[in-house]
Amino acid sequence: MVLFRKASDLQNYLLTQRLKGVPIAFVPTMGALHAGHLHLVSEARKSGALAVVSIFVNPTQFNDPSDFEKYPVTIEEDIRLLEETGADLLFYPAATEIYPGGTRELEHYELGSLEELFEGSSRPGHFQGVCQVMSRLLNIVQPNELFMGQKDYQQCMVVKELIRQESLHTHFHTVPTVREADGLAMSSRNRRLSEEERQKAPAIYNAMKRILDKLTAGDTTSLTAGAEAELTAAGFKVDYISLADADTLEPCTVWDGQQRLVVVAAAFLGSVRLIDNLLMTR
Ligand code: AMP
Repeated sequence: MVLFRKASDLQNYLLTQRLKGVPIAFVPTMGALHAGHLHLVSEARKSGALAVVSIFVNPTQFNDPSDFEKYPVTIEEDIRLLEETGADLLFYPAATEIYPGGTRELEHYELGSLEELFEGSSRPGHFQGVCQVMSRLLNIVQPNELFMGQKDYQQCMVVKELIRQESLHTHFHTVPTVREADGLAMSSRNRRLSEEERQKAPAIYNAMKRILDKLTAGDTTSLTAGAEAELTAAGFKVDYISLADADTLEPCTVWDGQQRLVVVAAAFLGSVRLIDNLLMTR
């Protein structure tokens, strides 16, 4: 694996590859890698393209400064895992490579309701930060294929919208969520859970699964309210647990029995905010 710290060096290298006709696949991450990230890298490799991974903890997408400060950094272990998984290139830039003019006057993106619903309203400015970093990274890497995780369902929608708005020639792949054996979605933030919190954490997955198992046409509010009450009783501070249209993310409180839905959830366990989602399969 070749490591690049400077955007211009990576761009020059990728240019020669592109001229040789080599397709480029890209997996952006914030590091503290786990099996979920590595699955994205394996999928990128399977596509037959040059697999480029980035590790950059993007300051502009953290609406909570203490979350940014506490974000785990495990770069040596990350490099070892990426080599083992067969990533071809790692881009590990300093903030000045991503934001050479600083972070004060970055572009504003019109994201419509995506910025008002769920993660959009709970984390003001978060998706602006996601667009700012993704726009810059996509501009540097110019990938043919982009691999991102369903774990961050709304983020996938935002980045697809960014690709559309910027008319980029990048094909978006949504990769299913990798879970621990007990159902907890893998996340870099899981490392910050105490042992007791880690035991409780799969309750989010179980609550979402129960909602989909019990879902019938008609009013769905008692199902989601019941799930929220259960999680609260188990010690979570629930931000939301809701049913929404899988394509628009508009909340769904009365199901017509046809509409494709997703359950989206976010809840705090202590100081750790966990998010997850589950798509209807029937
Ligand atoms: P992050 O480092 O949290 O920014 O995540 C980098 C990429 O990995 C994003 O596209 C995430 O959606 C994806 N990802 C994170 N956790 C998982 C998981 N458990 N399964 C699959 N993809 C994931």
